[in-house]
Amino acid sequence: MEALLKHLVDMTCQRDHVLLDSSVVSALHELVDARQVRVHEIFRFRNDLFLRPRVWITGDKIVSAEEMLDNETGGEPLNTYPFLVEGIKQRKNCIERVNDAGEHVLWLPVWLNDKVSTCIEVTDPTPYNGDTLHMIDGILSVYRNYQAILDYSERDSLTGLLNRKTFDEKFSKLLSCAMLESAPKDLEERRHAHDGDIRQWLAVVDIDHFKRVNDQFGHLYGDEVLILVANLLRSSFRAQDRVFRFGGEEFVVLLRSTTLDDARRIFERFRANVEQHEFPQVGKVTVSIGFASISTESPVVILGHADQALYYAKENGRNRVCFYDELVSSGELHSEVSNDTVEFF
Ligand code: GH3
Ligand code: MG
Ligand code: MG
Repeated sequence: MEALLKHLVDMTCQRDHVLLDSSVVSALHELVDARQVRVHEIFRFRNDLFLRPRVWITGDKIVSAEEMLDNETGGEPLNTYPFLVEGIKQRKNCIERVNDAGEHVLWLPVWLNDKVSTCIEVTDPTPYNGDTLHMIDGILSVYRNYQAILDYSERDSLTGLLNRKTFDEKFSKLLSCAMLESAPKDLEERRHAHDGDIRQWLAVVDIDHFKRVNDQFGHLYGDEVLILVANLLRSSFRAQDRVFRFGGEEFVVLLRSTTLDDARRIFERFRANVEQHEFPQVGKVTVSIGFASISTESPVVILGHADQALYYAKENGRNRVCFYDELVSSGELHSEVSNDTVEFF
């Protein structure tokens, strides 16, 4: 009882999804005495569903995919687990299986507003008795309620994308990640970086002439365009990337571990997806994108670079993707000294 209370207190004092996942993994591992516990993320990419471990425990160590920015865990197609697809279709809360090694595996889809984006997997050599299943059910209810509260504070209510506050928190954390130690530090170094180097990227996306949409069709249609652009953003980027609504009709994308060529291709593909989309009533909408590589400079400076590239795209035709370093190299933009950039904000 005491251990259970301790874990419940631990779960409900978290202000972050990864820490909440870690605490539920730790609670189930200890209280159920399970050999392995994993929290998976279920996500849609293009039109297919995928499953990807987000936090898990190996031995006594809790590992999160977020710490391993370099990982290539794009996820496995959900169809690889037909019993899970079937269980989710039937809206089940628990699917029990015996794996090839003869271990007992519980698959626990976490339902939030009739949707599943998380599934917990508990594996143990011995079967689970009624009391254990009852306790797991209780822990999962607390986890689910708490996840709903966190979602509410981290997301934008119109589009469901992560909000600006979350960006501020996540971006600083991302910058302090050890992995970024290898990021090119200054402009000179960035200029010498090869196009094939794996780096992190930040893009600012802004809808072109959005005011005209509001003026011509009304605010409700404007809101609809924002929701549809957010959906296009969600389906155009990978699970390990992050998309935020930064304010009004402006979005920020963090693209992880990819080369300049790929980053350019990915942003260009998204721009084209929007251009080709038929928005009900409104018709055609376009976006402009400015992007910069994530260096060890401060968030304000990196955002400033992407913003300057966006401004250039706006001034030079809109509906295009511009890369800050390239504009500086070609003399189209002048690189800002950090102090000026702070003032710029
Ligand atoms: P540009 O191509 O230069 O970006 O022009 P723009 O018209 O998109 O940019 P501007 O900044 O002039 O206008 C942005 C508009 O976005 C003005 C504001 O009313 C509208 N807006 C901001 N937030 C919302 C929202 O939540 N819903 C709706 N419908 N409109 C919004
Ligand atoms: Mg705009
Ligand atoms: Mg704007």
